[in-house]
Amino acid sequence: MNKGVLTVVSGFSGAGKGTVIKGLLAEYKNYALSISATTRQPREGEQDGREYFFKTKEEFERMIAEDAFIEYAQYVENYYGTPRAYVEEQLEQGKDVLLEIEIQGALQVKKQRPDTLLIFITPPNAEILEQRLVGRGTETPEVISMRMNRAAEEAAYMDAYDYIIINDRLEDCIGNMHQIIQSQHAAGSQQGDFISRMQKELEERKERKA
Ligand code: 5GP
Repeated sequence: MNKGVLTVVSGFSGAGKGTVIKGLLAEYKNYALSISATTRQPREGEQDGREYFFKTKEEFERMIAEDAFIEYAQYVENYYGTPRAYVEEQLEQGKDVLLEIEIQGALQVKKQRPDTLLIFITPPNAEILEQRLVGRGTETPEVISMRMNRAAEEAAYMDAYDYIIINDRLEDCIGNMHQIIQSQHAAGSQQGDFISRMQKELEERKERKA
């Protein structure tokens, strides 16, 4: 069976990544979303094990020491990390795994696994980004301002991503993302097992003829 494609989805806080990913999971069957661990406080309505595994700083640091994360990063004073076991298991089973993580983590994953697809989701402009953060109503003005500053820093790394998707119309955005990820199944970097088998078969034929 072919292995799944590992895709990192990043984007400014407020870009609508979460909504796009939810849409992708609802419309297509072959995706698995990795649930991260974090030390930040749960927001209203968030459940442990659904949005995140909520951990204390001590628990998180123990997991770092045990090499339990593919990557982890500090973001606005909290730790966030991707548990390794689930991702590897799902890829092995042929699922296309999605990681919704920020830029430092994205670059760490790409370094470890160069066949990872990096997708960046952005609103059409900065004003719309700020409106979406304010409209969400879950963050204090200080945190919104921190997140806008962070967005300015992150914009410097956008060109490290394989694809930039502008989240203007949600349905288009979901469709584009699905298409890009499915195309990646045909990438040479994704087809290692097939390539090895073909090479072996051709070598065997050469030897038989000789
Ligand atoms: P939030 O606090 O809004 O849920 O997430 C803040 C940021 O952390 C977002 O950009 C989100 O993509 C990122 N994030 C969530 N989980 C992880 C993770 O496991 N690793 C890293 N590096 N970033 C994460």
